[in-house]
Amino acid sequence: MSAAPLLEVRDLTVRLGGPARRLEAVREASFALAEGTTLGIVGESGCGKSITMLALMGLLAPDIEISGSVRFRGEELIGKSQRELSSLRGKRMAMIFQDPMTSLNPVMTVGEQIGEAIAIHATALSRAARQARALDLLKVVAIPFPERRLRQYPHELSGGMRQRVMIAIAMANDPELLIADEPTTALDVTVQAQIMELLLQLQKERKMGLVLISHDLGVVARVANEVAIMYAGRICERGPVGTVFGRPGHPYTRGLLASLPKIDRTVESLIAIPGSLPSLAQRPSGCRFHPRCTFAQSICTRDDPALLPRGSVDVACHFADKVETS
Ligand code: SF4
Repeated sequence: MSAAPLLEVRDLTVRLGGPARRLEAVREASFALAEGTTLGIVGESGCGKSITMLALMGLLAPDIEISGSVRFRGEELIGKSQRELSSLRGKRMAMIFQDPMTSLNPVMTVGEQIGEAIAIHATALSRAARQARALDLLKVVAIPFPERRLRQYPHELSGGMRQRVMIAIAMANDPELLIADEPTTALDVTVQAQIMELLLQLQKERKMGLVLISHDLGVVARVANEVAIMYAGRICERGPVGTVFGRPGHPYTRGLLASLPKIDRTVESLIAIPGSLPSLAQRPSGCRFHPRCTFAQSICTRDDPALLPRGSVDVACHFADKVETS
């Protein structure tokens, strides 16, 4: 990582449910992202990946309590007004979501929607200039027959084309940071690969920082420089992707890797991590993973392990040594 990260998140904590309940959706998440690099954020559905990103983009409801620090090019974002954040969002920081059909407006043409994203930050551009820029963006995202697509509505496009439109909207103002929240989940496997290739190509060309939220470990292993593994609202392991996936120090990371299907082996059933993610209202005491952990000892039910450095990786486990060598 460079000395001045593009994005630096420290102890980001998100509490839901108002002062009476204070349900901790994210606890003390910390990570950094350098310009032109990719951070993968991995974990089961409901582990806090998306809410972490929505918090740092300032997209959560005002009654949700957020603490900690989010620095974008050294500028603190926590505590900024919505007006101040809007001047960054869509311009210097952009986000794409997993289901383009629910993100796009069904009653506006593709051209109008891309033009609208351009107009928010480039108010002096004429309508004709915005449409010309929209056409250029459709060409950048390699959508077939871009002139025709400009005049079409989202329902007239395939899932892959809709996601390319979402990427075009995100690229409308040349962002420095792109957050992609499961951008290929709603697509079939072939189209998934094409969309990931497109994102990586754009990232390299534009030297963007990319945060890729995914539960596809194969994609993260291939494209990310660093990875953060989240469980029940906490980052439990974080570091260079090759080291974390090659020699995991946290039992949850191990479990995720073990549950991947192996193409070169026939198995009767896939290996699953026993149990399920605890609900927000019923987080276990001590280490949140202890009810599902095959390495758990009595200390794990009492003491929540801190995320501590182990070489180039940070791990939150009392028995990381044992996990890594077993
Ligand atoms: Fe498992 Fe204990 Fe490590 Fe938690 S601290 S992951 S329960 S061994």
